[in-house]
Amino acid sequence: MKFISYNNNSFKKTEYYTRLPEKEREVFDILSSVFHFKVNTYVLEHLINWDAIPNDPIYKLIFPRKEMLPITDYKALQLLYQSGLEEKTLMPFIQKVKKKMYPEVKHCETSIPKVDGVRVRGMYSNFGTIVSLFPDPMAKTCHSYCSYCFRWIMFNNKEAQQNSSYKDPQEPVAFLKEHPEISDVLFTGADPLVLKAKTLREYIDPILEIDSVKVIRISSKSLAWWPFRFTTDQDADELLALFKYIQSRGKHLNLCAHFTHPVELENEAVKQAIQRIRATGTVIRCQGPLVEGINDTPEDWSTLWNKQITLGMVPYYMFIEADHNSESCFRIPLAKALQIFQEAQKKTTGLARTVRGPVFMNDLHRTLLDGVVTINNERFFVLKSLQAPPNTFGEGTIKLIPYSDTTKNAGNLIELFSESPSAIDQLV
Ligand code: SF4
Repeated sequence: MKFISYNNNSFKKTEYYTRLPEKEREVFDILSSVFHFKVNTYVLEHLINWDAIPNDPIYKLIFPRKEMLPITDYKALQLLYQSGLEEKTLMPFIQKVKKKMYPEVKHCETSIPKVDGVRVRGMYSNFGTIVSLFPDPMAKTCHSYCSYCFRWIMFNNKEAQQNSSYKDPQEPVAFLKEHPEISDVLFTGADPLVLKAKTLREYIDPILEIDSVKVIRISSKSLAWWPFRFTTDQDADELLALFKYIQSRGKHLNLCAHFTHPVELENEAVKQAIQRIRATGTVIRCQGPLVEGINDTPEDWSTLWNKQITLGMVPYYMFIEADHNSESCFRIPLAKALQIFQEAQKKTTGLARTVRGPVFMNDLHRTLLDGVVTINNERFFVLKSLQAPPNTFGEGTIKLIPYSDTTKNAGNLIELFSESPSAIDQLV
């Protein structure tokens, strides 16, 4: 299959645009000028069920939704569009709305690595044994964009890309050599696997030289968005050879595969891709967020995890959707999230119980929403810190917060799990 991707303008020239109900077309026209949008031929032809618009989960996973904007801004934009003005005339207002919606991603000062007092660009180290790397070419794009993505500020934004990524493949080496306690290196993005195998190797090679690094992780949604990356793309064989080569250098290779809905695992293309990756010895661990209206039933998750096990992958994390979208329209109430996780687990093979969830992945902690307890007739959510910055001493601790049927927010997790206030006083 030939990879053709469409942005908001080119998509309007496809037959699929004309298949959108009129109301959906209007929402698309308005919102795709503010938010990110990219879709490819595989998603259009094989994943979206066009007879089920607007309720199809993959449609909702790709197309922006009205609730992403405050209603007043949406209505203002709607009026301007209905006035028939050209988009370039509307641009100043669109930019204003867009800026308001920029996700706020906080990093603690201690999570920004430095060598000789100088910041190492494109590297973040929230926990003691792992760093995340953002090489410049990997931070730019994905095979398609998810509506709920909080990294969209990086797409088509040179300034944001330059500030948070690095170009020289040697950049992280000095820091990693100074920190032998770091065993895991995560290549992330956007999506690292949009790159050619040759470019990927240029960035991975220097890391393989460091003995204390034992695990290479690559975070990607390409199995879901473009499985041909591992089968028929021109350099698919070279990519799989790179996977083997990483392991031949004595490292464990983990593909953190982002799956959101069981439909993404249904067709032959993805099954074949998974088989080819597994044949290299790479372990595929699966993770994804719980998202309102897309995968918010126990059946969605039990089916997803059972399929992952059948295909030889390891269910790893169910995340609570990040709340960087100020309207929080993708996040569901914590009580419901917990109920979905617990009900789904009851319907899965024991092998799928490796999955942890629901887990907050934002802020600085990996925090598990572990259950509900009643003490003196009062109900509480039980939160457990799975990982925390080394200087906060919070890792492994359990905290209780008041239970609510409706809340989507657990409050400030950094403060909750910090015993050392100094670690939280410098959020940047
Ligand atoms: S694949 Fe990841 S980085 Fe890319 S749009 Fe989806 S959530 Fe964002």
